[in-house]
Amino acid sequence: MLGEFELIRHYFAAAACARAGGEVVLGIGDDCALLHIPTGEQLAVSTDTLVAGVHFPDPCDPFLLGQRALAVAASDLAAMGATPIGFTLALTLPAADALWLAEFARGLDAMARDCSLRLIGGDTTRGPLCLTVTVFGRVPAGQALVRHGAQVGDLLCVGGALGEAAGALPLVLGQAEAAADVAEHLLARYWSPQPQLALGEALRGRATAALDISDGLLADCGHIAKASGVALRIERERVPLSAPLRRFAGDAEALRCALAGGDDYVLAFTLPPAELATLQDAQWPVHVIGCVVAGQGVQLVDAAGNELPVSARGYNHFHA
Ligand code: ADP
Ligand code: MG
Repeated sequence: MLGEFELIRHYFAAAACARAGGEVVLGIGDDCALLHIPTGEQLAVSTDTLVAGVHFPDPCDPFLLGQRALAVAASDLAAMGATPIGFTLALTLPAADALWLAEFARGLDAMARDCSLRLIGGDTTRGPLCLTVTVFGRVPAGQALVRHGAQVGDLLCVGGALGEAAGALPLVLGQAEAAADVAEHLLARYWSPQPQLALGEALRGRATAALDISDGLLADCGHIAKASGVALRIERERVPLSAPLRRFAGDAEALRCALAGGDDYVLAFTLPPAELATLQDAQWPVHVIGCVVAGQGVQLVDAAGNELPVSARGYNHFHA
């Protein structure tokens, strides 16, 4: 009979995503994993921790939690333009529940395969439910999509509709109901965000700055503005909002979710105007929502170009 932590390791070491291969020379089982980084490339590393009751409701569906924990972490690789290699999983559990672990591992494995990420190691401890995922990727030296490169005159773009995960929160928490098709769409956006890894790689050598939106468009654009020493101007009418979100939340709340909600894991990036046509011709999801101007901070403007109030926190108590 396996001990409980051997049992846990057994679930993860046996998962399809835990097989060595590619840049993973040695995976789970030794004191360290070994990664091969091709000559001329750099290692990109990012960690995310999800705490039960803080970053996700507890209890929740373990399959969905496994998917979401990895998607959130992988999104940082997308934001850097990095090609996925692998990830480690530090898992703190109140108990080793075999059914819970099997479902969690299945969700994790599904997202890992979608993202081409191999599970290369981790740690298992007992305590209140908490997950830490560290992702590793590679990027040609000098081509990572950093936050500090935005230039005055660049376009400000996003990789898709915003606000859906934040708009889904009342559904996630069981505080609201919606038509089945709308609920299904919005809940999927919360529980299985799709890290924009291919878009991130396509933006290498083109975008001047990028990040993934996790704290809301205004707050995250503020990070690019600050790091780059410029101002970002967002045109309210160009912020992409999905039909399901507008139907569920109404236009004003949909916009508030997009501007200040968070959990989108959609890329925001600045792009020299000359790069736009190439990306759009290749069918990449590039939505222009504004531009980079001299100054500092984030400006929100209406169709006539009038500036709308935005608080320092990004949450502007904004009404359409
Ligand atoms: P050590 O004591 O040397 O740190 P552990 O006993 O913690 O090793 O883990 C043994 C092996 O199992 C290591 O390769 C480690 O990376 C892996 N491992 C432990 N927990 C997990 C987990 N939750 N997911 C994936 N791999 C794990
Ligand atoms: Mg250990």
